[in-house]
Amino acid sequence: MTVIGVFALQGNVREHLAMLGQVGVEARPVRRRSELEQVDALVLPGGESTTMDKLARAFELFEPLQKRIADGMPVFGTCAGMIMLANEITGGIEGQETLGGLDVTVRRNAFGRQVDSFEADLEFAAFNTPYHAVFIRAPWVERVGRDVEVLSTVSSGPAAGRIVAVRHDRLLATSFHPEMTGDARLHGYFAELVRSL
Ligand code: GLN
Repeated sequence: MTVIGVFALQGNVREHLAMLGQVGVEARPVRRRSELEQVDALVLPGGESTTMDKLARAFELFEPLQKRIADGMPVFGTCAGMIMLANEITGGIEGQETLGGLDVTVRRNAFGRQVDSFEADLEFAAFNTPYHAVFIRAPWVERVGRDVEVLSTVSSGPAAGRIVAVRHDRLLATSFHPEMTGDARLHGYFAELVRSL
């Protein structure tokens, strides 16, 4: 059975574990290196990217994570997890680093004060009906590398056109929180990606 881990030092861990269970994979929290070694793929949840960066170092997971990503482990980064996957960030704090792997530039807290938190219906080519997305102090993607596929953009309002979901080969990332609405289609999409390898 496919085993997908959820980085569990910080963020919305329980919700992701539940959604992965819904799409028929075995889901496990990952807090230490030995646990990371036992999963086929990983979800990096939303939370606070600066804290995740520090905790990943403190728990000696930063380099093992970078190595597994470089070796081709599929990763789904959501919100702060998207920031952690980005090769480049703007609006980070002094000294903030990311794991990298995803050839994009991500702006932290990009939507600004008026729309700190908001919800929007997003179109995905892979889905028949819109995906209702919850954004919480979310990043957006400002630059995508040549091989990065844009999966969805905001369709209306002040942030119209902003890129909020991308995929580059085995790396998937969303600006929003797919674990919060009960819609398991993105977890299903990720599970399919992992199973197809
Ligand atoms: N603003 C947060 C950060 O920079 C991300 C917010 C979230 O994950 N909901 O890490």
